[in-house]
Amino acid sequence: NMKRLATLRNHTTTSRDGVGVTLAANMGTASDIPNVLQNGAEAVGLMRTEFLYMDSEQLPTEDEQFATYRQVLEKLAPRPVVIRTLDIGGDKPLPYLHQKQEANPFLGARAIRQSLAHQAIFRSQLRALLRASAYGNLRIMFPMIATLDEFRQAKAIYDDERSKLTTARVPLGKIKVGMMVEVPAAALLADRFAHEVDFMSIGTNDLIGYTMAADRTNQDVSYLYQPYHPAILRLVQRIITAGHTAGIPVAMCGEMAGDPIAVPLLLGMGLDEFSMGAGSILKTRQLISQLNAKDLQGLVESAVNSADTSQDVITMVQAAVPDLT
Ligand code: PEP
Ligand code: MG
Repeated sequence: NMKRLATLRNHTTTSRDGVGVTLAANMGTASDIPNVLQNGAEAVGLMRTEFLYMDSEQLPTEDEQFATYRQVLEKLAPRPVVIRTLDIGGDKPLPYLHQKQEANPFLGARAIRQSLAHQAIFRSQLRALLRASAYGNLRIMFPMIATLDEFRQAKAIYDDERSKLTTARVPLGKIKVGMMVEVPAAALLADRFAHEVDFMSIGTNDLIGYTMAADRTNQDVSYLYQPYHPAILRLVQRIITAGHTAGIPVAMCGEMAGDPIAVPLLLGMGLDEFSMGAGSILKTRQLISQLNAKDLQGLVESAVNSADTSQDVITMVQAAVPDLT
């Protein structure tokens, strides 16, 4: 079976009835590159940049970051690579930043909030990314966007750094700029965001936590952390529809994207890109090749509109795709 899966390494991803999707990898450091390639990723849907900052005693310099981003983009070219700006705070503090203790770090100065408050760090990361863009197919993504104002501010800072480098005649590649949809407010307003971003990527790890108001690392409430809950499915469907109505692609880079129960639902909803741990790519490619995307629309309709519970959804998926178990 591993051998059979390996033959799928150089294939694109298509459902039985011919619907093409992109299977992408999540990665954290340049040392993940061989694993991404060996597992047949068509793209990188999320490179988390936190490790560059956490595996260090001080802020990485612009040149250090440039070297890493360049290496990643070059080795993975021509594949598109989504690099996410710093998602620090929450469960990932940076000791040398001396951030304030917060009563609720997950509701505090995380990610883009931190970047907008400490612009020097953000600008240095954006310059490193812009300079590296000449070496591959770069997409920049902002984490934890809650409001349009935040996206517009982040984009304006990006545009500012971009025009400075252009004036200095630094060669730049073609770059797309998008956002993670992982805060329920952004999911509900996805139709408005979709007019201003080049792409959206659904971050279900946080979206589930914030929607269910449950921290998955807290045993006492982990029963509420339910990826197939109809409330989550409604938000996910809403984001995909909003993106497609505005003519932009929608990806997912949370754990849910590689979950065999979720994949039929996401394919039926029309998700364009599934980004996951590299080790899940080949089995997901095989699963998708066995599914009829058209037939799954009825399943999506019942799961979104007439399921009461996660268990209802699981039962519906198992009935629609019997060999899943
Ligand atoms: C997510 O929230 O789904 C996500 C991919 O980001 P992270 O897990 O890094 O918070
Ligand atoms: Mg997240």
